[in-house]
Amino acid sequence: MKSLQDRLKEKGLRSSYQRIKILEYLEKNRTHPTVDAIYEALKEKLPSISKTTIYNTLKSFLETGLISDLTISGHEVMYDAETKPHSHFLCKSCGTVLDVVDIKCPHVRKEVDGNKVEEVHLYFKGLCKKCLPEGRKQ
Ligand SMILES: [Zn+2]
Ligand SMILES: [Zn+2]
Repeated sequence: MKSLQDRLKEKGLRSSYQRIKILEYLEKNRTHPTVDAIYEALKEKLPSISKTTIYNTLKSFLETGLISDLTISGHEVMYDAETKPHSHFLCKSCGTVLDVVDIKCPHVRKEVDGNKVEEVHLYFKGLCKKCLPEGRKQ
């Protein structure tokens, strides 16, 4: 397992303490946090951090392929330390976003009508196991 410093260096990113803490948070919390959630989690340990810093850091992580993002909820961007293609499930009740790793979209193609496909996002929405009323569980 490469150190976080090495992973930043590999992507040509300067490794500052704040950057390492943000990447570390994403690696440890595979809950697809938003900028707000990351800010809330880090502001105690990093009192000088701002949402703008977090946003800009995430942007540079995205541009270099260190992380991925998703917009499953339709109103906010979520960030994911997993960069391999995978699908997501959104619980419409509690807002939890789970990784779906065992289902691949059957329609994945390299091109559609001559247009080159670079990303395919498959979003499932419904009620998670915790929110399903008793009796409706499988
Ligand atoms: Zn739920
Ligand atoms: Zn994910």
